[in-house]
Amino acid sequence: MALVGRPNVGKSTLFNRLTKSRDAIVADYSGLTRDRHYGNGKHTGHEFIVIDTGGFEPDATSGIYKEMAKQTRQAVAEADVVVFVVDARGGVSAQDHDIANYLRRLGKPCLLVANKAEGLLEGAQLVEFYELGLGEVLPVSAAHGQGIRSLLDQALKPLNLQGDADEDEAVPGVIKLAVAGRPNVGKSTLINVWLGEERLVAFDLPGTTRDAISVPFEREGQKFELIDTAGLRRRGKVFEAIEKFSVVKTLQAIESANVVLLLIDATQGVTDQDAHIAGYILENGRAVVLAVNKWDAVDEYQRELVKRSIETRLGFLKFANMHLISAQKRQGLGPLWASIIQAYKAANCKMSTPMLTRLLLESVQFQSPKRAGMYRPKLRYAHQGGMNPPIIVIHGNSLEHVTDAYKRFLEGRFRQAFNLVGTPLRIEMKTAA
Ligand code: GDP
Ligand code: GDP
Repeated sequence: MALVGRPNVGKSTLFNRLTKSRDAIVADYSGLTRDRHYGNGKHTGHEFIVIDTGGFEPDATSGIYKEMAKQTRQAVAEADVVVFVVDARGGVSAQDHDIANYLRRLGKPCLLVANKAEGLLEGAQLVEFYELGLGEVLPVSAAHGQGIRSLLDQALKPLNLQGDADEDEAVPGVIKLAVAGRPNVGKSTLINVWLGEERLVAFDLPGTTRDAISVPFEREGQKFELIDTAGLRRRGKVFEAIEKFSVVKTLQAIESANVVLLLIDATQGVTDQDAHIAGYILENGRAVVLAVNKWDAVDEYQRELVKRSIETRLGFLKFANMHLISAQKRQGLGPLWASIIQAYKAANCKMSTPMLTRLLLESVQFQSPKRAGMYRPKLRYAHQGGMNPPIIVIHGNSLEHVTDAYKRFLEGRFRQAFNLVGTPLRIEMKTAA
């Protein structure tokens, strides 16, 4: 956790509170805490590290202030969460705005804390801090030890210390998984490796017959169903691609899956057919994980080419995690599971209306949509219109004039806030008549 703010707002005092130490020098001189200070703290059984920083002027270009800005940026880079301290008595300064702009662009969890708030009527003087666009303002008094507990509750929350939102933690129910890809990319090889793994336990799912290509299995507490993938047939105990590649079957598999693992052949790069399959996945709004197989069989030069072809031809899937694997050599396969579960969770993410609306308004404040002739689109509020894929419906006026670039900007903000990795996200605009 990094403490950031202009000089004299009480960072060092707060540092002492949080670390219950006297390590940082508290003094009424601006800029005394020049270097970074590290301290340990503990809250509800969780240990954390606090980094105190000198005063921060993001745009400082010379001398001691430049050095302080550098130190602060390093502290911020190291931290999982940034605590931005402002002076409840001094009000919002231009410098606070600069710092807020800097922090918003980082996209790290950030907590806005108004210090020296002892004896201030809650809220009254704090309203102006909302204009910093960082959401809720938390009043504290470092000197008097008020509000410190809620500060820590809030600051440690995004870190999921309770582990309740671990990326690869099991979700209830069965995740339907389709392994898609052109003939010969290695689908059967991968599936057979999986099914031969000890960690993978087959179970019976009502309604599935023994020879249907629907294999229910459980892995580390998570249930999956491997659904019929185009061209794959069971031959005794193993799977083989015995049919001709069928577009219709691929489509059906994609449609009935929750998550699609799209395999690309590293020795071939991204072909037209790969791009088509990827297109189907996006059109169907399916969660997706990319895996480039046969990574063992390509040299450095080819690797660069493959990476580039993915960027140029599959750029529209850049919300998805990508893994470089070798099914045959069983390399890089473990991390696939976490990505599959993460994509599933993202596709089924629930987003509250207040949270969406707050994010929307903060985004507009950060960068408002362009005026189109006489019209200036006015974005008012947002709510979730569906799941799998998540749909965000934005309400307002003149929204038909919102540019695609602006929609992409909003998409980026929503994705970041809700950690939407691996799922398409749809944004719909509803203009009031
Ligand atoms: P820094 O430059 O941001 O590290 O600020 P300091 O921690 O050195 O504090 C600057 C001044 O503000 C010192 O005189 C502190 O005593 C005072 N101060 C710190 N916290 C509080 C507080 O909660 N209430 C009041 N009234 N003063 C405080
Ligand atoms: P499918 O048609 O997508 O099911 O592909 P297969 O699993 O039948 O694999 C096609 C060919 O690629 C086979 O000869 C496999 O041995 C080979 N293959 C699969 N995975 C890998 C890999 O990771 N590395 C290499 N070098 N070859 C692989």
